[in-house]
Amino acid sequence: MEPLETVIAARALLESVTPLKRDCGRACGAACCQSDEDGQGGMLLFPGEEALYTDLPAGWRIEPDDAVIPGGRLLICDGRCERMQRPLSCRLFPLLPTRAGAKMDRRAWAVCPLMESGKRGLDPRFVEAAAKAGRLLYAHPAHAAFLDALHAYNEQLKTF
Ligand code: SF4
Ligand code: SF4
Repeated sequence: MEPLETVIAARALLESVTPLKRDCGRACGAACCQSDEDGQGGMLLFPGEEALYTDLPAGWRIEPDDAVIPGGRLLICDGRCERMQRPLSCRLFPLLPTRAGAKMDRRAWAVCPLMESGKRGLDPRFVEAAAKAGRLLYAHPAHAAFLDALHAYNEQLKTF
């Protein structure tokens, strides 16, 4: 399977489930969709996913970002999107798949109020969908390497 096919399948698993049964963005003002005080923001695309963004909405762009993995691609949006446009990273947030399931994504501490209550505070259907997406992704070498790099990056965040 090509990386793109895998990412499409993983995105489909997270098409209709969200972190909470209600819209979690109402309470926090969709904090994860806002740029930071430096005007920076964006979500890393999974391997192959850039092919789904050849026709970008106005105000969106894709930039190289090697902070997590060489050749990384960062999708920068204008803070609003249709659900079907959401990259896989946004669909998974604030979870990150592991080889055994899914865990809270340490990068989310900066913005997401759901981090305090952890996985037990999330809709179990969302947690299961993220874990299922993880099983698909870890079966593909390019996605496994990408997720391993994200986990390594998160380990470094522990020291800050
Ligand atoms: S920051 Fe967390 S609580 Fe807010 S919209 Fe994003 S995932 Fe939901
Ligand atoms: S792509 Fe959509 S979900 Fe992701 S950060 Fe932008 S507005 Fe938010």
